[in-house]
Amino acid sequence: MANMSLKKVQMPEQDPNVRNKNFKEVALGYEENMAVEEAERCIQCKNQPCVSGCPVHVQIPDFIKQIANRNFEGAYQKIKETNNLPAICGRVCPQESQCESVCTRGKKGEPVAIGRLERFAADWHMRNKEDKVEALKKTGRKVAVIGSGPAGLSCAGDLAKMGYDTTIFEAFHTPGGVLMYGIPEFRLPKEIVQKEIDSLKKLGVKIETNMVIGKILTIDDLFDMGYEAVFIGTGAGLPKFMGIPGENLNGVYSANEFLTRINLMKAYDFPNHPTPVKVGKKVAVVGGGNVAMDAARSAKRMGADEVYIVYRRSEEEMPARLEEIHHAKEEGIIFKLLTNPVRVIGDENGNVKGIECVNMVLGEPDESGRRRPVTEKGSEHVIDVDTVIIAIGQSPNPLITSTTEGLNKQKWGGIIVNEDTLETSRKGVFAGGDAVTGAATVILAMGAGKKAAASIHKFLSEK
Ligand SMILES: Cc1cc2nc3c(=O)[nH]c(=O)nc-3n(C[C@H](O)[C@H](O)[C@H](O)COP(=O)(O)OP(=O)(O)OC[C@H]3O[C@@H](n4cnc5c(N)ncnc54)[C@H](O)[C@@H]3O)c2cc1C
Ligand code: SF4
Repeated sequence: MANMSLKKVQMPEQDPNVRNKNFKEVALGYEENMAVEEAERCIQCKNQPCVSGCPVHVQIPDFIKQIANRNFEGAYQKIKETNNLPAICGRVCPQESQCESVCTRGKKGEPVAIGRLERFAADWHMRNKEDKVEALKKTGRKVAVIGSGPAGLSCAGDLAKMGYDTTIFEAFHTPGGVLMYGIPEFRLPKEIVQKEIDSLKKLGVKIETNMVIGKILTIDDLFDMGYEAVFIGTGAGLPKFMGIPGENLNGVYSANEFLTRINLMKAYDFPNHPTPVKVGKKVAVVGGGNVAMDAARSAKRMGADEVYIVYRRSEEEMPARLEEIHHAKEEGIIFKLLTNPVRVIGDENGNVKGIECVNMVLGEPDESGRRRPVTEKGSEHVIDVDTVIIAIGQSPNPLITSTTEGLNKQKWGGIIVNEDTLETSRKGVFAGGDAVTGAATVILAMGAGKKAAASIHKFLSEK
């Protein structure tokens, strides 16, 4: 019988005052009975709006029904038909603007907790089952995938399932892309990402780390080595700066560097891990997206007393996931909204001692549809901080486009592709994820990886 409660079954979480001092996962996941109770809130709509709200079209009502029937492995297998990385998507997908935003139950009360149920099914499988290695019919043809973020991983997974000899080339020493180096442990435990990567390896995907394509090898070298097609999934890892005075002072980080030191190099466990990160007592994080929330919450966990989010628009315009804004507030992050930095101020030794800001008011909507912030005259003021973290966006790294002849790119650096096939201007070279769209989401990158794998298969079958 359907559970007509207007509220989602709550997911247990670590207490905010405890968790803001550790890097363990914030949300603890449903237990079996909670998941069944939540699954019973799904009324199995005929038109299934949730499915069309999901970029990879997970058969949501079908997997939820399996959970309601306590067939947890069946639920997992259903999700896996279309989503290679369910434990990750269940944790970091912006469900509130995708599947859950169109869920019928959301018209009156809260939508079904689709993300939490996806996470539950994936975690249940990880705890209770061994992945079966399917015997694959090999095609004997080699494909190269550059970058091991969600785009590259899902492309490689699908290609391996189709029997291609697939190798991922990754610049870092650890595969996973932003899932490993960007999103913090307390939101996405690295063990979970590692398990997903291991299951791809079991499918036969080879991963070569410390391989910076465009430096060590070029795309042309890969073709010379016998790879018949190449997928570029190199993401958008080049941090943007504001271009204001003082950004070169000691104590100013890009969010990328700050988070990479903490997540990938495990600076939170220094000196057990050799990379340190200096975090001051008062930290300003500039930006309003997921990256800004992650940097602010990480700074707090690293021991900062006061952490500010400095954002030039209002909370309504913040691009970060609602859940992350909520969690950040619970953990004591202070929001300075409608505030824009104009200068970083240093002391006589070149260390940050403050950030000068102006107040903003919202004017007419700009081309993004968001109301444009306008400076309020005479509102200059200084926030005393000793660390500034810039989290205002990233763009694609130009290394590959500048070393590959005939690979067309947008002015801002994104690789230009045919939207239907994801083929680039170079024959046999495909691209997807943040490298094409600019900074976006995990699920869109995964969707692009899958689409490219299908196009590569078609391209090679017709060759
Ligand atoms: C801190 C942070 C938090 C985020 N939070 C969320 C969230 O909560 N939900 C969400 O949906 N999205 C979130 N995102 C966005 C999401 O992570 C990205 O959209 C997604 O990871 C893009 O996937 P990708 O595979 O295109 O690229 P990436 O994940 O960036 O992976 C690209 C990989 O390519 C490698 N590479 C780059 N250049 C080369 C080269 N020349 N040779 C070889 N390898 C190379 C990189 O080292 C990297 O491993 C977040 C992003 C950040 C930075
Ligand atoms: S829209 Fe909501 S209630 Fe309807 S099938 Fe999807 S999850 Fe269930």
